[in-house]
Amino acid sequence: MEIKKIAVVGAGTMGNGIAHISAQSGYNVVLVDQSQDYLSKAVARITKNLDRMIKKERITEADKQATLGRIKTSTDLKDCADSDVVIEAIFEDRGVKKEVWGKLEELCKPEALFATNTSTIPITELANFTKRPERFIGMHFMNPVPVMKLVEVIRGLETNDETLSAVVELSKKLGKEPIEVNDFPGFVSNRILLPMINEAVYAVMEGVATKEAIDGVMKLGMNHPMGPLALADLIGLDVCLDIMEVLHEGLGDSKYRPCPLLRKRVAAGRLGRKSGKGFYDYSR
Ligand code: NAD
Repeated sequence: MEIKKIAVVGAGTMGNGIAHISAQSGYNVVLVDQSQDYLSKAVARITKNLDRMIKKERITEADKQATLGRIKTSTDLKDCADSDVVIEAIFEDRGVKKEVWGKLEELCKPEALFATNTSTIPITELANFTKRPERFIGMHFMNPVPVMKLVEVIRGLETNDETLSAVVELSKKLGKEPIEVNDFPGFVSNRILLPMINEAVYAVMEGVATKEAIDGVMKLGMNHPMGPLALADLIGLDVCLDIMEVLHEGLGDSKYRPCPLLRKRVAAGRLGRKSGKGFYDYSR
């Protein structure tokens, strides 16, 4: 099937980035969210990112206008009806995703491919909210989408070979490097990243070293661009805790137990950059 039109549902942090790269790669895009306000903010963000690319002389003003011209916005899921692929990037909430996928199943053409950007919900479970689990797949983009190269392509239990190859091909056309993985809790990215962050929090709790020293060891010694505690602040400590809970529950192994200090920080509302304070202070 030739892919010409992509629907992106959810215009938040991830959705606006997915819409941006899709339009920049020549696809017609419909970007759907709950209210015009979210959509206006998303288009403003895309415009800002395109302006930054013009400054860096990576695109021209004409490229920017063409990209923006390919993005239509809507508050009505019905506008996804003629799309060849739907990429969902709404809140990480099973109930909300179930409702939206149920509606999309009714509205979209039967041959359309369905992809979700979920970080933690099993692809197989979300696929089951539709009547086309063989054409349902995970497309796990990384934040910020226009910058990060990886798309973790996650095959659900019923995903067929045609869907997998179409989505691998699409990811490449979007300028990304797809890597195929199977549907297990946390996939590969979060299964490996989050236990490392959790271990760094244990190291703080046990007084192994200061937070600066822990981050310094990982940056200077392992060539990580940022230390695990600074990264936890960027991701959000609440999101880190949620992912550890998913790994712990889904894999049933005590090695994934969330660090008590991570729980304590979340309970105190120290969520990282978004709340002004996490392991580091961002209030000044
Ligand atoms: P976000 O909160 O920034 O954006 C979610 C958007 O979905 C909001 O604009 C919201 O209005 C919209 N939305 C919610 N319900 C809707 C509905 N019924 N219809 C239409 N729009 C609706 O969230 P995000 O960080 O962009 O995350 C989106 C998805 O991507 C989640 O599944 C998350 O797990 C996943 N993800 C996030 C990151 C990240 O770093 N933020 C990375 C990878 C994957």
